[in-house]
Amino acid sequence: MTSNLQNDKLEHISIDQLLDYKPTQLDEMLTASFIHWIEQLSVFSSFTANTYFVCSSDYNMLHISSPDNSLPINQDLIIRATRAANEAGEMEYAVNERDQAFKLGVLPIHAVGNQLIGSVGIIYNMDQSKFSTPRILSSFLPHILLQAEKMENKRLLVHQQEAEQKFNITEMLFEVVQTLHSLNDVESVLTEVIDRIGKLYPLVQVSLLLSQDNQSSSLPVKPLNFTSAENDICTRAFMEGELIYNPAIGEVDAEVAAPLSGKQGVYGVLHLHVLPIHFDHNDIQFIRLLASSAGAAFENAKLYEQSNFLVNELRLINDITIKLNQSLKLSEIFSFASSELINIFGADFSCVLQMDKTENEMVVQASNLPTMFQEKFSVDYGFSGLVYTTKEPIIISDYWSNPVVQSKLMEVTGSRSMIASPILVNNEVMGVILVTHRYPNFFSYDNYKLLQVLSGHIGLTIANASLHAEVKRMVITDNLTGLYARHYLDEQVNFYQKKDFCGSLIVVDIDNFKGVNDTFGHQIGDKILIQVSSIIKTCIRDSDIAARWGGEELAIYLPQVSIDQAVRIAERIRNRVFNETQPKVTVSCGVSDWHWEDEKISVELLFYKSDMALYKAKHDGKNQIKVG
Ligand code: GH3
Ligand code: MG
Ligand code: MG
Repeated sequence: MTSNLQNDKLEHISIDQLLDYKPTQLDEMLTASFIHWIEQLSVFSSFTANTYFVCSSDYNMLHISSPDNSLPINQDLIIRATRAANEAGEMEYAVNERDQAFKLGVLPIHAVGNQLIGSVGIIYNMDQSKFSTPRILSSFLPHILLQAEKMENKRLLVHQQEAEQKFNITEMLFEVVQTLHSLNDVESVLTEVIDRIGKLYPLVQVSLLLSQDNQSSSLPVKPLNFTSAENDICTRAFMEGELIYNPAIGEVDAEVAAPLSGKQGVYGVLHLHVLPIHFDHNDIQFIRLLASSAGAAFENAKLYEQSNFLVNELRLINDITIKLNQSLKLSEIFSFASSELINIFGADFSCVLQMDKTENEMVVQASNLPTMFQEKFSVDYGFSGLVYTTKEPIIISDYWSNPVVQSKLMEVTGSRSMIASPILVNNEVMGVILVTHRYPNFFSYDNYKLLQVLSGHIGLTIANASLHAEVKRMVITDNLTGLYARHYLDEQVNFYQKKDFCGSLIVVDIDNFKGVNDTFGHQIGDKILIQVSSIIKTCIRDSDIAARWGGEELAIYLPQVSIDQAVRIAERIRNRVFNETQPKVTVSCGVSDWHWEDEKISVELLFYKSDMALYKAKHDGKNQIKVG
């Protein structure tokens, strides 16, 4: 401790130092104060040749001015004399019994609670001194004590201020926490935190580093860069989950990094550049609590956003599934899926391809790009081929930066982003969905997952519709010949008779079929039946209806076809059966028609007329056509 410590330094002790200052002992500060005052005193009262000292209550010499070697005393003597003076309650005492000229002027020092905390004294030569030492000492005692009192007051004031500040901080924290927890979107939570710090500490530079979702237009949000140096304060705070405070060094500002942590993890770091004069341990504590509340609120908001997202996604899936299942027509399902996917993802183009197993190719069944419709692709071409072979969905962020495969869809549309998914039914790829956008990085990972889920539902709907179509086909189809069943023909004739002006019916019967069976066996008989049916199918149009009427009798209804035309068709069938069947058989045909002006119109009547004509044909020698 140097004796030239300036008294006014006491006025500028830092708050932290003052907080720890307990004037229950003669510490460095008080000692310095005494030394200062004694020095002042000695200058003005010409004590220069004398020695002065400060010692603690347990008689440790805290300071002694350069002892005059000419004095016949030592430190031990001084301490002993001081103790005796203090105990006797006297201010003046002889230092040395033999040499009464040297006196000790001692002043006990009491702290605020009247507790003895030390002594200050002067050793002087009675002969040289012009003043009474005790009087001199007494004269500066009030100064010292006033000083001590001032310091005590200042300490109390600081304590009070600190308590107030703590209360304010607690109140503010309470308010912030309340606000934070009432917010349920991440952006608002972060805005609140940054606003609060900005208002409380206008000189502090704030930034937020987030490990994910770090894009914000309005906030000073940055990605947390783990690749930076290991001792980077933010990385450390994130990894350790603890606030880190780096005090200022030279020109470099102090820094605080506080982790935003919730129950399930750390989401980011609140990073502050601080001028140390504006920041103390209370502020650090405040930032720590603010960051941890923000972390919890951030987590809540995130969970809320996530659950909202999931609820919306489920609602969407539900809506789509209901809409998809409203139709059992495959073509409608495909085009609904295609247009709905564009709406859901905000995409530019979509393509739904169906696998054609017989041709081993993919056929575009729906697209908002008309040129793609009904386009066929081999199973190893493009993204549909890739999805078909891997059975896995795909996400492409920028096709043109690295075209994985050649893709007509991407080329024609100039698309850069894509999500694609297989339509799986029983783990078999029934089709592929492609959704594209012209911007790169357009689709999110969530989009990719959602498409996968939707594809599953689309697959189920398609499977359902296919099964339905198959059952329907089976119900109206004759198993052996592949022609329609009799009830279907009846229904259709009924239907057309209500709507058309005319129509014709040909009944075809294989001649001597019993004999064929007897000669070649039933199996060959069946084959001939199939051959005759195939000939009939190729002799008529798609709009005509050929059915197995029963046994080896077949019937063809020709809507809006006149009797003459029907006879020509029957003739063609007869001729081709004669020429093409193996073993060779012949057929006889009975043809009849109806006209809207007829008196009586019914399916039964039409069949009756054809049957009569057929009977005539048989009767007249078979292998011929007769009109009813
Ligand atoms: P017709 O020239 O007068 O028509 O003589 P037909 O022998 O063809 O006529 P008939 O009504 O006497 O005999 C019809 C035969 O057709 C009897 C039956 O064995 C055969 N038949 C009916 N349905 C089938 C079938 O599904 N498969 C086979 N193999 N034979 C059938
Ligand atoms: Mg027959
Ligand atoms: Mg018959």
